[in-house]
Amino acid sequence: MAVSLDTPLSELAYVPKRFVGLLTRMGLRTVRDLLFHFPVRYEDFSETKLIAELDAGERATVQGTVEDIHARQSWRKRFMIIEASIADATGSLRAVWFNQPYITQQLKRGASYNFSGKVSANEEGELYLSNPAFELLPHGRVGGSESDLPFTNYHLPITSFRHTGRLVPIYPETRGLTSKGLRFLVFPLLHSIELLPEFLPQNVLLKENLPEVNEALRDIHFPRTHEDAARAKRRFSFENLFLLQLSNLRMRMELQKESARPIPVSIERLKELAAALPFPLTPSQKKSLWEICQDIAEPHPMNRLLQGDVGSGKTVIAALAAILAAEAGLQTAVMAPTEILARQHYATFKKIASSVERRVASEKCPSLTTHHSSIALLTASESLLTTHKGEVALSKKKLKDTVARGEASIIIGTHALLSENVMWQNLGLVVIDEQHRFGVKQRAKLVHGSKTLPHLLSMSATPIPRTLTLTVFGDLDLSTITELPPGRKPVKTHVVPPEKRTGAYQFIRKHIKEGRQAFVICPRIQPTPIDADATQMNAGGNYPRKSAFLNPRESASEVKTVTEEHEKLSTKIFPDLRVGMLHGKIKVKEKDAVMRRFRDGEMDILVSTTVVEVGVDIPNATIMLIEGADRFGLAQLYQLRGRVGRGAHESFCFLFTDSASKSTAARLKAIVAAKNGFELAEYDLKHRGPGEFLGTTQTGFPDSAMEALMDPPLISASREAAKELLRADPALAKHPLLKQKLEEFEHALHLE
Ligand code: ADP
Ligand code: MG
Repeated sequence: MAVSLDTPLSELAYVPKRFVGLLTRMGLRTVRDLLFHFPVRYEDFSETKLIAELDAGERATVQGTVEDIHARQSWRKRFMIIEASIADATGSLRAVWFNQPYITQQLKRGASYNFSGKVSANEEGELYLSNPAFELLPHGRVGGSESDLPFTNYHLPITSFRHTGRLVPIYPETRGLTSKGLRFLVFPLLHSIELLPEFLPQNVLLKENLPEVNEALRDIHFPRTHEDAARAKRRFSFENLFLLQLSNLRMRMELQKESARPIPVSIERLKELAAALPFPLTPSQKKSLWEICQDIAEPHPMNRLLQGDVGSGKTVIAALAAILAAEAGLQTAVMAPTEILARQHYATFKKIASSVERRVASEKCPSLTTHHSSIALLTASESLLTTHKGEVALSKKKLKDTVARGEASIIIGTHALLSENVMWQNLGLVVIDEQHRFGVKQRAKLVHGSKTLPHLLSMSATPIPRTLTLTVFGDLDLSTITELPPGRKPVKTHVVPPEKRTGAYQFIRKHIKEGRQAFVICPRIQPTPIDADATQMNAGGNYPRKSAFLNPRESASEVKTVTEEHEKLSTKIFPDLRVGMLHGKIKVKEKDAVMRRFRDGEMDILVSTTVVEVGVDIPNATIMLIEGADRFGLAQLYQLRGRVGRGAHESFCFLFTDSASKSTAARLKAIVAAKNGFELAEYDLKHRGPGEFLGTTQTGFPDSAMEALMDPPLISASREAAKELLRADPALAKHPLLKQKLEEFEHALHLE
């Protein structure tokens, strides 16, 4: 019976029930999930050797007959040793296993097997195989023929061996489910699965020398050679990049077809506005503003990402763009991830608008006075309107009516503004914070089928390396603010070894007594027990870490956790101070409340995971203490540190680490020298791989494709192929399968 990709694993008769649970825990529910759970490397047992040819230290396969097998207790009775004697025409050899008594049942005296494993030597120089994998040879004898096996599909592995005598796949480390277990599951699937349709165009496969999908799927799991494995891997990498490029290019094409209301801007006007600000703009603020102005002057919607560290002045630039829109008679919607941030933006926008109003003579621009000062805040808990007469609280309904009449020009809220069903009179610009993508459909929904779409300015303080941004967010044009406004005091940063912990606590106490506040950041929420069987897993050591917190090898006791640390600090270290706690499992409302209390000075110390909002401005917080600092990426540490040093007082960052290694110290010191977070992001990309940045909430980019983002030639090949295809078939009318695949891909990326 042919199995389809959508068949649930629980419906496969040969999959043991207890495996189904383990698979589910790994996020593997369907045949597709399992088949696209790729190995990270291969153990090379492809060379079959005669016993007399073996050398100590090598990994090899031996075809031999079991002459004897028995179990015994080790001399300290701690564990059981299974010993077998195996022989071929050239000699005999011992094979040894620990604590696997069932092997005495599995290996039959007189039968012949492949044995694959490491050749070791004991003190006498006698060779033995330690812990080898084994598989019965066809007909149980050396020389039994493979062709007798009942496998016929053309895409089948050429050999029926899964664990021995070949390149053996090693899967990502998992709890309880070993690579051996996964091979047991995957191998039969590869010949019972229906043939998959190929969605990549033939000419692309040919040009890039890529295997077709069924062959690639076979070769990625059970390759004959390393070359076959590499080709298969390249195909899947290419596939993802190709879809990504198609998606980005199509987004660009689509936006180019849509119209937007142009917001004309003159250089003179920009100079006036800039001169009206309480401070001079930094060079990259100016450059970014100019790039934005050129985009919004077009009759097509802007799609631009404005990147910059927290505090680099992005919101100021967005506010200026919104003022320009208001002067052109258009409304702006500003969406932040949380209410606190919405409120903060509201304050910044008001500040910029009022300084512009005060300084710029109103007769020069009459529309300015009527429009720019009407700024509204619309969130679940507040609806406020600021006009030239001052601020008023309105009912939500009244505020929405005001917006509908076009009497409020800038409306600031959370992402929930989308679902608020606001009837805009003439929405011309959308500013969205920390959500990179905002599709055509989302824009259209905001303006209820109007003929024009609003321009989009997306803001982000998440440091992502430029190379990644250009590929993953290739549909967006990029502006980057690379420097902080002048005059910021650098945050004093120290790497703190365990013996100096007490001193650091005394230091913190002193500063809190002087009225300051402190953040304590921990790598995890709660201690999690580690399964005992985790230690028996096959090593898959070179898998790029998805995040520093997910490494199952990490013993829980090593990792400071928010709940434990909160307990310790509030009862033992600082019982006299007010210590609060924040992490991702806390409900949004409560989170907002905790954040608010900390901001308002009702709390001295906030113990938190990295959820502390990226942009929240708490000038009175001057200490950032990071536990287990070596577990974070540098860009992330940098970003955490950016949450202090925002007021008049001198600020400090303490990087606590138990790691005594020189490389850790060097890595952490890089933060002290860094000019901006993007620089460190490049460093992280080189040293920790792209999983550090992606595969997280922001992108939804498939894990298996991460490495592809480190392959510039493949990236450009995929871009060229995508361009060429779209030139010939812009609507993908001749490639229905590809079109469908692209839609699924975009759906997974949360594009629409
Ligand atoms: P971001 O949105 O990037 O976090 P903001 O625009 O909120 O940064 O700016 C952070 C703070 O710095 C605000 O108080 C803002 O008024 C101030 N600021 C922005 N640009 C400048 C500048 N060029 N010079 C001095 N201060 C600035
Ligand atoms: Mg900000």
